[in-house]
Amino acid sequence: MTPDEWDNANDPQQMLTFLRDTGRLSDRKARLYCVAVCRRVWPMMRDERSRRAVEVAEQFADELPGGESLTIASAEARQVKRLDHGPDDACGEWAATAALHAAWLDWFGSKYGYNSAVYTNRTACHAAASRDVPPSTPECRKAADAEQAAQATLVRDIFNPYYTLPPLLKLSNIDIVNLAQAAYDDRTLPAGTLAAARLAALADALEEAGCTDDELLGHLRSPGPHVRGCFALDLVLGRS
Ligand SMILES: [Zn+2]
Repeated sequence: MTPDEWDNANDPQQMLTFLRDTGRLSDRKARLYCVAVCRRVWPMMRDERSRRAVEVAEQFADELPGGESLTIASAEARQVKRLDHGPDDACGEWAATAALHAAWLDWFGSKYGYNSAVYTNRTACHAAASRDVPPSTPECRKAADAEQAAQATLVRDIFNPYYTLPPLLKLSNIDIVNLAQAAYDDRTLPAGTLAAARLAALADALEEAGCTDDELLGHLRSPGPHVRGCFALDLVLGRS
């Protein structure tokens, strides 16, 4: 993909494929992307076990609980997916499936990353598209397109394959790292969106410390949405 194609893409799978093929799809970021798309369909997860699976998957991305916690949460999410959701709750079944995909420890014995991200975004998209309209209708297709576009925006928040930190830019100032960590921790739940004011304050601090990188500062000052895994915030925190 060219930079222009990346900036204008509305197909998250195409973007994830590009990231995989260029070696930029870390397991951590793939999982945080899965969590972000699941949080978009949070109200459709009728069962607490699905929501819990997404929360544990999110914690696991930053290695807070061990794999055992995720295995348990994943097994519980699978039980929800297997429930009879009935013909009137297709979106609930899709949302439960998305939560399950987000919470796999790995992908049937291989790396978590690409397949889990693709299936999570696909099933979450089905959930969003079938919330208010009948399946296989033009309205459903339109809703799916809108959800895919929103998911593509999340991909662009978490990944920026065309940006590299300028070699002379130092981001290790302890005050800056503390500001960045506070921005990572302070979220609106259950949406999971980061506080724009904290990211803007981080950009101001970076600028005061000598950062003149327009792309980094511009992203932090943009309205977002920003979520955990945001490429600019991750760079400051030294995460990938
Ligand atoms: Zn961001």
